[in-house]
Amino acid sequence: MAAETYDLVIIGSGPGGYVAAVRAAQLGLKTVCIEKSPRLGGVCLNVGCIPSKALLDSSEYYHLAQDHFAEHGIKTGRLSLDLAKLMQRKDKVVSDLTDSVRNLLKGNKVEIIHGQASLLGNQQVKVVADEGKSSTILGKSILLATGSHPLEVPGMSFDGERIVSSTEALNFDTVPKQLGIVGGGYIGLELGSVWMRLGAKVTVIEMLPKIATTLDGQVGRALDRILKKQGLEVLLNTRVVEAKPTAKKVKVSLEKDGQQTSKTFDRLLVAVGRKPLTQGLNLEEVGIEIDAKSGHIIVGPNYETNVKGVFAIGDLTYGPMLAHKASAEGIAAVEGIAGLAGEVNYDTIPSVIYTWPEVASVGLTEEAVKEKGVPYCVGSYPFSGTGRARCMGEKEGFVKLIAHGKTDRILGVHIIGPRAADMIAECVLALEFGASSEDIARTVHGHPTFAEALQEAAMAVRKCSIYAS
Ligand SMILES: Cc1cc2nc3c(=O)[nH]c(=O)nc-3n(C[C@H](O)[C@H](O)[C@H](O)COP(=O)(O)OP(=O)(O)OC[C@H]3O[C@@H](n4cnc5c(N)ncnc54)[C@H](O)[C@@H]3O)c2cc1C
Repeated sequence: MAAETYDLVIIGSGPGGYVAAVRAAQLGLKTVCIEKSPRLGGVCLNVGCIPSKALLDSSEYYHLAQDHFAEHGIKTGRLSLDLAKLMQRKDKVVSDLTDSVRNLLKGNKVEIIHGQASLLGNQQVKVVADEGKSSTILGKSILLATGSHPLEVPGMSFDGERIVSSTEALNFDTVPKQLGIVGGGYIGLELGSVWMRLGAKVTVIEMLPKIATTLDGQVGRALDRILKKQGLEVLLNTRVVEAKPTAKKVKVSLEKDGQQTSKTFDRLLVAVGRKPLTQGLNLEEVGIEIDAKSGHIIVGPNYETNVKGVFAIGDLTYGPMLAHKASAEGIAAVEGIAGLAGEVNYDTIPSVIYTWPEVASVGLTEEAVKEKGVPYCVGSYPFSGTGRARCMGEKEGFVKLIAHGKTDRILGVHIIGPRAADMIAECVLALEFGASSEDIARTVHGHPTFAEALQEAAMAVRKCSIYAS
């Protein structure tokens, strides 16, 4: 039987692959999306963004009921946690969303094939289905969107039980009494927050002198202080030498300033980063260039690899490993393939840490601005100065806006506070449009809202904040 031919073959159905597939179908390309897992949606929907946020939300409710309802005059009596139910809810959120992706693809007439895909050439893909049946598919173009997987470190190999990756840490069947987390990045801090709120004693072990290293320094320090106040133990400048699992515990040998110590945990989450997932794609044979050190696929400005007709996007390529970056690249790559001018503005990609309070930022940090030698002004404003935050009892955090010292153009915005993840959208748009701090300062913001803190921070750049004392 002759192999089926498509305009576009997409490998991987994460937020890069499935979004690219929908855009391709909209543009009239005959498209197939190949996914090795039985569920669509990739890491993001199945073991990443969505389950982690579902757990963050549930655990936040538990924490509020435990520690904050009383101040609102709400008596809850004796609280108890049904972890199995909490996990079931999370699984339902995930399965509803993965089903929606299937309907979305079907609705757009994207063909879905389940199986492990590998390249046979620049227009040929082999697919091996679960039952071992193999088929060949032809594509005028091929888009690789196979994402990433957790980085495994020597001396801390995952055993799925005591030493785990984020995937297992989204699914513990009991709350660990003592949870160790290697890595103070966003995944470690988010999952640390979940389990801490549910009752675990959480210790984050970070090799560097600070957590969340990419954050603006001032915001990073505030996050560190707030999380410690919530009960998180943070060991900085501390290296894990080795982790040894026993039947019920894991013993972790640590080194700080040449001194060796050890700690014992019920579980150890190793969240030190993720690596592009290129295994099994047969890239070497087809001659696709990969960065030998980082494992990223090297692409040109239109996402084409060095092999004509083969494109790559998302976690596979350089840049922040974020779902919205993958989706934006998927759209841009497909538009390029269809002869349009797709483009991603990498200077305005927001990033968020969904701790509570949330941390969200876009653009340059104050440290980066200083390093570039650009003249700048900073305006900041605390959430405690807004009526909305006071009503909610959310007094932690602030907005920090950095603007060019001469032109007033906004260079970066960094928010730590309630609903920072949603507030950052206005700042992303401001950066996209090359807005000045005065533009935000003169924009009327609803009252009472958290966004008023942004307006006040923008006013503070020119020292005309109304409420700052
Ligand atoms: C715990 C956690 C929380 C996160 N939270 C956030 C967040 O809040 N916000 C955010 O923006 N990002 C978050 N991320 C990151 C986000 O999940 C990734 O950046 C995003 O999923 C990358 O999308 P992608 O399309 O490149 O790849 P993936 O989502 O990794 O999808 C790749 C797909 O390709 C499939 N595949 C791989 N190889 C093959 C093959 N050979 N054949 C067929 N199919 C194959 C995989 O099964 C997978 O379904 C989080 C990640 C983790 C782990």
